[in-house]
Amino acid sequence: MKVLKFGGTSVGSAERIEKVLDIIQSKAASEKRIAVIFSAFGKVTDLLIEMGRSASIGDESYKQIFNDLEKIHIETADKLISIRKRSQILTRVKLLLKDLEEVIYGVYLVKELTAKTLDYIMSFGERLSAYIISECLADRNLINEFVDTRDIIKTNDMFGQSVVDFEQTNLNIRQRFNFGQNIFIVTGFIASTPKNETTTLGRGGSDYSASIFGAVLDADEIEIWTDVDGVMTADPRKVKTAFPIPQLTYEEAMELSHFGAKVIHPPTMQPALDKNIPLRIKNTFNPGFSGTVIGSDSTQNGFNIQGISSIDSVALLQIQGSGMIGISGIAQRIFSALAREKINIIMISQASSEHSICLAILPDFARQAKTALEDELKYEMHYGHVNEVVIEYEMAIIAVVGKRMRHTKGIAGMVFQTLARNSVNISAIAQGSSELNISMVVARVDEEKALNAVHTAFFMPESKTLHLFLVGAGLVGGTFLQQLKNQAAQLLDTTSVQIQLVGLANSRNMVLEPKGIDLSQWEQNLQSSDTQSDVQKFIEQIKSLNLPNSILVDCTAGEAVPHYYADVLASGISIVTANKIANTQSQDKYDELKRLERKNKVKFLYETNVGASLPILSTIKNIVSGNDAITKMEGILSGTLSYIFNTFDGRIPFSEVVRTAKEKGYTEPDPRLDLNGMDVARKLLILIREAGEAFELDNINIESFLPEEAMNAETVEDFFRALQKLDDYFESLRQKSKDNVTALRFIARYENGRANIALTAVGKTHPFYHLDGSDNILAIYTNYYNNQPLVIKGPGAGADVTVAGVFADVLHVANYLN
Ligand code: ADP
Ligand code: ASP
Ligand code: MG
Repeated sequence: MKVLKFGGTSVGSAERIEKVLDIIQSKAASEKRIAVIFSAFGKVTDLLIEMGRSASIGDESYKQIFNDLEKIHIETADKLISIRKRSQILTRVKLLLKDLEEVIYGVYLVKELTAKTLDYIMSFGERLSAYIISECLADRNLINEFVDTRDIIKTNDMFGQSVVDFEQTNLNIRQRFNFGQNIFIVTGFIASTPKNETTTLGRGGSDYSASIFGAVLDADEIEIWTDVDGVMTADPRKVKTAFPIPQLTYEEAMELSHFGAKVIHPPTMQPALDKNIPLRIKNTFNPGFSGTVIGSDSTQNGFNIQGISSIDSVALLQIQGSGMIGISGIAQRIFSALAREKINIIMISQASSEHSICLAILPDFARQAKTALEDELKYEMHYGHVNEVVIEYEMAIIAVVGKRMRHTKGIAGMVFQTLARNSVNISAIAQGSSELNISMVVARVDEEKALNAVHTAFFMPESKTLHLFLVGAGLVGGTFLQQLKNQAAQLLDTTSVQIQLVGLANSRNMVLEPKGIDLSQWEQNLQSSDTQSDVQKFIEQIKSLNLPNSILVDCTAGEAVPHYYADVLASGISIVTANKIANTQSQDKYDELKRLERKNKVKFLYETNVGASLPILSTIKNIVSGNDAITKMEGILSGTLSYIFNTFDGRIPFSEVVRTAKEKGYTEPDPRLDLNGMDVARKLLILIREAGEAFELDNINIESFLPEEAMNAETVEDFFRALQKLDDYFESLRQKSKDNVTALRFIARYENGRANIALTAVGKTHPFYHLDGSDNILAIYTNYYNNQPLVIKGPGAGADVTVAGVFADVLHVANYLN
């Protein structure tokens, strides 16, 4: 005997039902006897409940819902049944619907919906679906027997969640199935009391019906047919990378389903487990796939856990107080108080100090639970031993499940570390004593992020998906996107890091695409976007998308984006920036960003702030975090000025050299930010701060070499015109330095708390004399490098090298994150 069950998702439309009929037909050809249990058509149970609720509050919209239900069933039957038999079957369907209409009208009149009436209303879903399908099979010449389980499955009268009387039920099943047809078409979910009043087995209960039949009929296997390839490592609607689990034990399946893996109804396991009958979850739309087998054993899948599931919406109750310490029986009183109110506790956690107990329950019962608990503990509360019960709403539970956890250390640690790195705060933790499951209560807004991050950490430890939000699509941003496009595939191949560009903004427009922006189309996408750029909204979107491993990449030069850095870091989002503004505001603000970076376990990286991709800041970080200290720094920190003075050899006028530098992307968009020494000053300030000294921009002495008229020009073009007039002046400076066999270098220095920047003529023996192109150079003196400095030298300007640095920072974040 084979027992099969098809869920609502498998019978959601006439087309889907055709697939089910095919499966039954081929099963009937290979098996002697089959019992096939059916759920209501997809969404029908939800609609029935909604209709009942509307009618009970006098809301006339129940009529519309009734019409919809009528349409679903009549149209489906109409499409599936041949003309020959159609009218006879439709008459029967209409009769059933008529009964339903009468009951619902009654509910509307008396404005009351008892659990008993609701069960009766819900029963129409399964009665209609199984009946229609039974007739469809007959229409295909597959003789079958329709079974209304209200005649067979007997329960007590706890309507809505009745308890099965197995003795009577088993007897009934045996009697009915030992005779009759070879194919039984059976209603799932519904049953009846000894007085023959209709009951149901709880939402999702058709799985349970199947398991009850399978156990009594000694089925070789119970097949649960649904719309996914089996029990997956996580809910596929929430975790796109979830994949089917080949084998699970009953206990593992029970834990997963208890914590929200809707694919199988938890009580289903018991009858199958008692008889050791395997349950197989199969996909109606991919019948060739083996699916998941739930049985007494599960093979090692190569991972430390089997799956992750979650409960969307719970409330957390906190009972706290000094009076709870050491008093025995308090937990028991709490549980009894809730049990009296029939409130189900989903999870409990008690701190070892016994100072507090946390309970997760369904939010609808939170107020009732609070009242019950405060009543139970009123004496303790009166004397201040126990505080008022606190309710936190909008919470979710994440559960990590698998039997291997029992023998493997560090699983909990890995979960917590992963969540911390994604800035997911854990409000309560419980590990079942069976060690099959670790559950955590987190804020509901973090649920999907937490699921995805933990899923990646356990099932794809080698692979990481970074979600990038890029602001600034000018020279640097554009080059970054170009490099990303060229390297993305190779990166995925060699490092398993997948980079997804989710958000992109320039000064005019912005685009956000959670599934990833097509990198070969980014320019068109940005141009044609009808969302105007707004940094604040962009940041709000990053926060509300709440994707794991989110990184803000700032390729702008202005103040607008850095203004939000603190907010971004505080929201658990890493930042990679080529923008120097944030690090060169007041020391307090700089310290605050560092503090937020540490506190939120994110990364704030800006290697390109000094020397483009030269490893300057990382070297300083290494020196400072070791046992050495920096005593002096001296360098040429502007690739731009380096390029300008290295190129200015008298053949081309100074203003032209500057213009070429701008065109090559070596300067800031406004070259004066380079020429006035401000850019160098900002870099020097960052170096000093990274070296561990508190310092302010105002304390850096800049000896500017640009005359006022050029500096004060209104626009960049005006500036170039003014600069042209100064060509002779610069030529004379150059001549003078050449006559003295020196070269002009714009040098930044820091020593003994003093910082200055000046155009300096250096002689042939000075290490800064021989520089090429846009070379940067930095000499670092430390306690160990005191005679000979540590020197870092190389190209320090240009979009390509800057972007290489930004890229390296992004990958650095990838290494840090899970
Ligand atoms: P049916 O109507 O067949 O009973 P359900 O809607 O009850 O189907 O359950 C199937 C759905 O469960 C799938 O479509 C899937 O979206 C969801 N689901 C949630 N968690 C999981 C999981 N861990 N594995 C598979 N499916 C899951
Ligand atoms: N139709 C019922 C429900 O939707 C039972 C089931 O589908 O398992 O809950
Ligand atoms: Mg189901």
